[in-house]
Amino acid sequence: MIGIVAVSHSARLGEAALELALQMVPGGGVRVQVAAGAGTDADGSPILGTDAVAVAAAIDELASDCDGVVVLMDLGSAVLSAEFALELRGSDVPVRLVPAPFVEGLLAAVVSAAAGSSLDGVAEEATAALGAKTGQLGETADDETGVSPRSDPPTVPDDQVRDSDGAAVRIVTVRNPLGIHARPAALIAEASAGVTVRLRRLPDGPDASAVSLSRLLMLGARQGQRLELRAAGAAGEAALERLAALFEDGFGEGTEARESAASPKEPAAPSAPIASGAVLRGRGVSAGVAAASVVHLAPSIPEPEAGIVIDPAERAAEAMSIEWAAVAVADELRSRTADASGEARAILDASRLLASDPELVSEATALVRTKGVTAARAVWETAAAHERGLEALGGRMAERAADIRDVRDRIIAEILDLEMPGVPAREEPFVLVATDLAPADTAALTGGNCVALVTEQGGPTSHTAIIARSLGLPAVVGVAGAGAIEAGIVVLVDGDRGTVEVDPGESSIEAARAASVVIDFDGAGALADGESIPLLANVGGAADADGAAAAHAEGVGLFRTEFCFLDRSDAPTVDEQVAAYRGVLAAFPGRKVVVRTLDAGSDKPLPFANAGHEDNPALGVRGLRIARRSPALLDDQLRALARAASSESAQVEVMAPMVSTVEEASDFASRCRAAGLERVGIMIETPSAALLAAELFEIVDFVSIGTNDLAQYTMAADRLLSDLGDLNDPWQPAVLRLIGAVGAAGRAAGKAVGVCGEAGGDPALAPVLVGLGATSLSMTPRALGRVAAALAEVSAEDCRRAAADALAAPSAAEARAAASAVLAGAL
Ligand code: PEP
Ligand code: MG
Repeated sequence: MIGIVAVSHSARLGEAALELALQMVPGGGVRVQVAAGAGTDADGSPILGTDAVAVAAAIDELASDCDGVVVLMDLGSAVLSAEFALELRGSDVPVRLVPAPFVEGLLAAVVSAAAGSSLDGVAEEATAALGAKTGQLGETADDETGVSPRSDPPTVPDDQVRDSDGAAVRIVTVRNPLGIHARPAALIAEASAGVTVRLRRLPDGPDASAVSLSRLLMLGARQGQRLELRAAGAAGEAALERLAALFEDGFGEGTEARESAASPKEPAAPSAPIASGAVLRGRGVSAGVAAASVVHLAPSIPEPEAGIVIDPAERAAEAMSIEWAAVAVADELRSRTADASGEARAILDASRLLASDPELVSEATALVRTKGVTAARAVWETAAAHERGLEALGGRMAERAADIRDVRDRIIAEILDLEMPGVPAREEPFVLVATDLAPADTAALTGGNCVALVTEQGGPTSHTAIIARSLGLPAVVGVAGAGAIEAGIVVLVDGDRGTVEVDPGESSIEAARAASVVIDFDGAGALADGESIPLLANVGGAADADGAAAAHAEGVGLFRTEFCFLDRSDAPTVDEQVAAYRGVLAAFPGRKVVVRTLDAGSDKPLPFANAGHEDNPALGVRGLRIARRSPALLDDQLRALARAASSESAQVEVMAPMVSTVEEASDFASRCRAAGLERVGIMIETPSAALLAAELFEIVDFVSIGTNDLAQYTMAADRLLSDLGDLNDPWQPAVLRLIGAVGAAGRAAGKAVGVCGEAGGDPALAPVLVGLGATSLSMTPRALGRVAAALAEVSAEDCRRAAADALAAPSAAEARAAASAVLAGAL
């Protein structure tokens, strides 16, 4: 027996449809549950809506005596509720959501189920139920936009200005290049204020009220298309005059034909397009070369205007646009989920469920229906209320607030036909161009078709650059004017040379590709005379660690644990941490894994670790300093690390970031040892720590030099500022001398000195670092082969001479030149 659940917005519709259907099977023998309406209001009047919990209960009710359940839905949020119910139900009976017409489908399903059909059979019968009606009428009703064309009065000829009903009529042509997008729609609404005006796309397109932004957008009116304007009343003619003038003027956007083949959703061409063959320069921060068309990071969704009141006659349609938009967003996320895996899949799944949340949709549609709020504004306000509710709950629930904002923006973008915010999904490979990227944007790059990054801002050690390297995406940052590169044009991004060539010839693409081949690493870093220099990987989580192991890294020299929790607003539990850390340790059984405790703060604030605003976050409470305020956070992390270490065979070493005093190192070492962690180190990232290296070696087992921060703090130059990239250079003599001081202290103490900043992955600098006393180097896995090749060419003595000459140089450029002169002679 196959059961049937009928999901409807209206209890009365559900019951009436059931009554009709049951008349088809006088003998009974079918199990049908109606899940309809959203309860009653204070006066006992039924509320229109659907309730996923009720749908889930109906499915579970049938599960006890049915072999399968077919679910039929009326429309919009009924579909969302049914989908959501599949997540909520307790039973595991097979369920089929059937895209059938509600009334006809229910009749057909009831008859088929009563006849003993299978789940597939009942579903097929229901789906085909519209056949009789379409056959009889001989047509379908939808046009390309999915909006039913109206059967209103026929179009009047161009020269006629009043129809037979006395309404004023004008035919206008869309003259502006981008057609009726948000801004022209707003102008139309403004010019029609106080008058009932309708627009219809000719010859047989949909129509819309002039005051409904979303309906105007759904006209899909493009340049060159004609629209019929119709207005009633004395004021109608004057309104049509105003509107005709707006159309004639192209809404102030000009009336030239569009030259670009770009889709109407893409941003307008920049005012001063960059010529073909132009080469823009920035800083190459992630090696490799890629050529593809430019896609700009979509701008964030602006807050929809408040105070627009929708005509009561338009509200049902306006509300419906929310339901359709939510369905479209959920569908889009579902299709992206199919291609995703791991973390990215979990994030997409969570967003999809939020987009399918019937509460969000039904509350927003209620705002439209009862108060005449525009669809976009209703979604905005409803999401804000949900966000506040979640934030008030705190903890894990508060974290969902960001997801709600994301889904809110997606639904609004769909309603207003705007570009989806954030990193666009594209079928084809593309180069992402942005002012800068937020950590969440860079996370969204995983698994997509983005092949390279270009940003106007950002420095070589910004975390955007670091993530680009870990994803293996060529990236150039600090490219002035990148925002003016036209969307759709092909660019060649060379992450080694730091160039972006606009519309390059095929031969330059080929030449650049040949020059940027990744060199394989055989898994054993060593100098020409055989001295071993272990080459390790920098990772931010289990996926990175798997990639590093595949690239034959000898271990992990820097596990940035904060990267596991960038999206968290409350502290991860010890159990959650254990799971995250074990994922990395498992990739390197028996190998060294150096875990850095949370380096929250500055450009990587973690809401649960960094309290409030700081004027100078790079000089503020970041890294180990957080333990001053929240010692338990550090102790929990150390406990989790000890548990993870005892469950895996990797050799775990733990180090603290942002240490500047001997007392800090001493306190950290005691806490580590109390937690059962044996090998304890610190990062050398402040000039203070470098100068105190000898004293610090009395306390810790090893150090690792973070050259990114050491350069930032030594040169007093924000590492995120591309303008100061020349100061943030590890070749700066002051930085080299501090590294040399640490190396010397390490040799004297007989203890290990790693380098895990970006300098460690620079093949030109690697021999100098070794000469200064580095005993291992840690880097992005892509750099392993090149660094190994550079080291294999030189002896320990060559390294020492190159280091000595670099140390003696008065500038970064001269240090580089001096070292390369020594090393070139060694080859
Ligand atoms: C560094 O500062 O060099 C370092 C490796 O740490 P991070 O880049 O994560 O600040
Ligand atoms: Mg650092």
